[in-house]
Amino acid sequence: FLDQQLTSEEILHHLQNIVDFGKHVMKQFFGENYVHHGEIIQLPLDFVRQLCLKIQPERPESRCDKDMDTLSGYAMCLPNLTRLQTFRFVEPRPILCIEIKPKCGFIPFSSHVSQEIKHKVCRYCMHQHLKVANGKWKRPSKYCPVDLFSGNKQRMHFALKSLLQEAQNNLKIFKNGELIYGCKDDQECSSDWNELARHLKPFFFPSNGLVSGPHCTRTIVKELIHVITLTLLSSTDACRAGDMKTVPFSQGRSYCEASAFNKELVRNGKHKLESSGLPRGCLLYKTLQAQMLDMLDIEGLYPLYNRVEQYLEEFPEERSTLQIDGPYNEAFYEKLLDLSTEDDGTIAFALTKVQQYRIAMTAKDCSIMIALSPCLQDEW
Ligand SMILES: [Zn+2]
Repeated sequence: FLDQQLTSEEILHHLQNIVDFGKHVMKQFFGENYVHHGEIIQLPLDFVRQLCLKIQPERPESRCDKDMDTLSGYAMCLPNLTRLQTFRFVEPRPILCIEIKPKCGFIPFSSHVSQEIKHKVCRYCMHQHLKVANGKWKRPSKYCPVDLFSGNKQRMHFALKSLLQEAQNNLKIFKNGELIYGCKDDQECSSDWNELARHLKPFFFPSNGLVSGPHCTRTIVKELIHVITLTLLSSTDACRAGDMKTVPFSQGRSYCEASAFNKELVRNGKHKLESSGLPRGCLLYKTLQAQMLDMLDIEGLYPLYNRVEQYLEEFPEERSTLQIDGPYNEAFYEKLLDLSTEDDGTIAFALTKVQQYRIAMTAKDCSIMIALSPCLQDEW
């Protein structure tokens, strides 16, 4: 979907850039098997036009300001992760897919931050207040990303349970590709735990032998939370960025003052909040490392962005040599590894920080999709 008229060639270039960004940049941070960069395909125009007509009524209203590209004949082909093929198994089995959009899991530690509150309350929790105040959501969520990213199982369970209570845009559950839990759009939400438990029974048969009732529902939801936690903490394959050490964890605050979990602890007279830290190499750890490439916060970054912009106004021909809009290749990736925050006044420094910020923003907005399928005991 593009909001401006571009030539076919420009569209192809644009799509190629998106693919390369996933393939040569984001994959280095998350690992080969954890990013789907898609591929560009060519489609007959007649097919594209028919498809456009067919899906138009299904599109959420908020997205309809953008038109589908029906002229270039180029498209991006991406796997449907909610129906991830378990090709190991011959017969078809039910597939459960949990999509989590965790959002930013750390509190800004940059000295450029001018408002003290930003050092205490995470961005997500501040946004919750705003979104409830302006009517986007009816109730505030008790989810706080800093709890999820804490690595402390108790805090993670609390965060995931809160996500299951108020899914908003941050959690969706699919069964065989159909949305069974979470919000379809801002109006239509399904959030009935009994209904969810009914769907989940073939996957998590309650160990206590109960088959119905509120206790059974709670047990099944607990099982689900347990499995999600294990998955998020399990180690993944190595990635090139490896242990980047974007920032020593002690620099930032390890809890958010607005977190309901934290408030509960304070109410109970406990002030020390445990954060066991994430195991190195797990998916959440990698996500957090990439998010933390935002080392200066927008307040520290904005002047650097202006420096780049002014420079390009003066020397527009430098745009391509500086790789402002790609190509996203090895050379581009190498530059991202420079973690210095000491401003030497150069354009190179400013540009590296701007590009790192872009990676961080991508990681802050990414979705983690977890697909589960039951298997027989001897298939372990
Ligand atoms: Zn928070």
